[in-house]
Amino acid sequence: MKVGIPRGFLYYRYHILWETFFDELGIEYIVSPDTNKEIIKRGTEHAIDESCLSSKIFTGHVDYLIDKCDYIFIPRVATFGDKKEFVCSKFQAIYDVINNTYREKKLKILYYSIDVHNKDTELKAFMKMGKFLGKNKALVLKAYYVAKQAEKTSKLIEINNQKQLLEKDGLKILIVSHPYNIYDKYVGEPILKTLKELGCIPILGCVVDEKRALEKAKMISSTLPWTFNKELVGSIAIYKEKVDGIILVTSFPCGPDSLVNEMIIRRFKEKPTISLVLDGQEGTAGMETRLESFVDIIKLRKDNDYDE
Ligand code: SF4
Repeated sequence: MKVGIPRGFLYYRYHILWETFFDELGIEYIVSPDTNKEIIKRGTEHAIDESCLSSKIFTGHVDYLIDKCDYIFIPRVATFGDKKEFVCSKFQAIYDVINNTYREKKLKILYYSIDVHNKDTELKAFMKMGKFLGKNKALVLKAYYVAKQAEKTSKLIEINNQKQLLEKDGLKILIVSHPYNIYDKYVGEPILKTLKELGCIPILGCVVDEKRALEKAKMISSTLPWTFNKELVGSIAIYKEKVDGIILVTSFPCGPDSLVNEMIIRRFKEKPTISLVLDGQEGTAGMETRLESFVDIIKLRKDNDYDE
């Protein structure tokens, strides 16, 4: 059996967990390639028009994997525990959306479902998936714990690397973006590349201790419902003293981000902030110009602060 993992959405958050789990169980898998023009085209053709760009990209990756594997891996995530929190409805619905989109092809989907409000924990979800894969309970449990440890270690390394970047001299810009947007080679990476070419050090909001970020976010807003957005808001509270500016990166037309970005702009007035909307169109000239002027403004502001 070969499992196809779409390189989109939760892949960027959980790929170490998933890949280690499948490796431990001896399950063969392939990951779709980096996003490219063709994948965006496929996603746009199959997803409904109102979908956010990230969702279209995910659909494009699924489309790429059809006929290249036996099962396509599409986990469903709804809630993680806090009674007032849930994740964007796209992550709850994507399994059904893809199933419906490709109903004529009768896709075989491998999934797990996390909804802690309804007692479906991550452990339970992975145990069920392991059983479906025909593996025995002890092996699945071991695979899950090995995968969790690998995930933890990788996260710690990422956070430590970022800590070192924060200590470096230079203009540091905090990128507030979901990992599936900023790590995407086609839509997010050009932003990081341009900032580096402009001599800046990009700091990623998604590289953060998630529990700590959620605690911080609660102090900023007690009503914000979306877990992943809350982590990003908390990351601003954690990193803001060490960065010179903030870039909010959003995929078009994201409901949660548009609301949360407004709140961020009002609550963190002390830092220069811009918002970049990813629409998947070709060409980066507009984005580069905006970044150049943003960096110039920050430099000017820093020089003025120094003169005073
Ligand atoms: S949070 Fe926004 S970008 Fe992410 S899946 Fe939901 S609508 Fe799309």
